[in-house]
Amino acid sequence: MGNEVMLQAFEWYLPNDGNYYKNLAKEAKNLKEKGIDSVWLPPMFKATSADDVGYGVYDLYDLGEFDQKQSVRTKYGTVEELKYAIEKLHEHEIKVYADVVLNHKAGADFTEVFKAYEVNPDNRLERISDAYDIEGWTGFDFKGRNGKYSEFIWHFQHFSGVDYDNRQSKKAIFEIAGENKGFSAEVSNENGNFDYLMFADIDHNHPDVRKELFSWGEWFVNYVNVDGFRYDALKHIDDGFIVDFTNHIKNVVKRDFYFFGEFWMYDDNNTNHYLYDTKYDVDLFDVALHFNMYNASKDSDNYDMRKIFDNTLVQEHPTIAVTFVDNHDSEPGQSLESFVEPWFKKIAYGLILLRKDGYPCVFYGDYYKIAGEYNIEGQKDMIDNLMYIRKNYAYGDQTDYMESEKLIGWVRHGDDSHDPMAVVISTGDMGSLKMNIGKENAGKKYRELTGDNPNTIVIDEEGFGEFEVGIATLTCWVSYE
Ligand code: CA
Repeated sequence: MGNEVMLQAFEWYLPNDGNYYKNLAKEAKNLKEKGIDSVWLPPMFKATSADDVGYGVYDLYDLGEFDQKQSVRTKYGTVEELKYAIEKLHEHEIKVYADVVLNHKAGADFTEVFKAYEVNPDNRLERISDAYDIEGWTGFDFKGRNGKYSEFIWHFQHFSGVDYDNRQSKKAIFEIAGENKGFSAEVSNENGNFDYLMFADIDHNHPDVRKELFSWGEWFVNYVNVDGFRYDALKHIDDGFIVDFTNHIKNVVKRDFYFFGEFWMYDDNNTNHYLYDTKYDVDLFDVALHFNMYNASKDSDNYDMRKIFDNTLVQEHPTIAVTFVDNHDSEPGQSLESFVEPWFKKIAYGLILLRKDGYPCVFYGDYYKIAGEYNIEGQKDMIDNLMYIRKNYAYGDQTDYMESEKLIGWVRHGDDSHDPMAVVISTGDMGSLKMNIGKENAGKKYRELTGDNPNTIVIDEEGFGEFEVGIATLTCWVSYE
């Protein structure tokens, strides 16, 4: 199978009604029919409360099964409903990727007293106090689970940092002191050292932690029948741990398994550095392409579309790029807000769905809607249309026509069973772009498939067509008859 499409099947403001898995199970058939081949589910683990999107993970062994944090279910439902949804998705040949949050734990059961340094939040390599006793939320005994699946109890020794001292009611970044303690060196060097992100930061170099997380991973892939992991917050986690953990999962899982991850950084030099330093087999989100599209959408007057793929993963490392337009962090009101403007979405989805390279990931918020106070309608029909084109027409080699600042296009040359296809993008006026689809196609008639243009274009003797485009939009031309 080719031309696969992933759906990020959630956004930040989904209602906390516990119906998510049930709805997803019902939607599986439609998703497959529209062209979705895999879904990335929200974090499945019991978090700080049922209101939590899931990134404030409390218990990795509680997928909506135990009465913990005031409910059995998570925001999304119970473990039975989760398993049923996975079964339905598989029935319709949709793969399921789990969001794996290993950087931190949240909502501890009890505090502990231990020695820690305060560090400078802008340069965590700089300690701004001696080690002194603080009372931190680092004790996890999961009484509601009562030792089922794992008897491991987390203590301060298993963490590298916290952000709160209960004694002083003080917020700061604390580095936990002790023998063999300290932040991992194998993380992003933003803020000096970006090991610490939030909550109680897991110490991935502690032998008992490694053992426990390896054992958890093995339990997890056997307990729920997922087909891959999306690693959260990679830039905050020790590289060596991810290599070892990934290899461990590969060794124990008895099915095809896909690994991808989020390394949120616009400076591509750092991403490249990361790629070369770490030899693990994990695809990465193309954060640079997201930001290029965001910038183009915010300032189309000054953005040169010929540079839309500059410094992107999909250009520099096409085989590992997961391309996306927006996600739960970039949507309005979120921590990494950088939401691609609605007028640009069709162009953006064309840039990820109709090209040769990249594993495109459609964002739930763009597809259905973003709920809550922002209340932004999705563009499902547009995305369905582009997915249909991807599945039926977007094949073969690719030739780019980087014509001018506001006019670009490309030809997909087709293969044995598909004719060539032409795509034109304008971020300015109406126009047309002369592109060659091959002499052998002389005389063929081309029509536009996204509803932007009713005209017929006839390919000339040399194989050229003059493909038209409207104001600030995308057209896609295919042969007919
Ligand atoms: Ca960390």
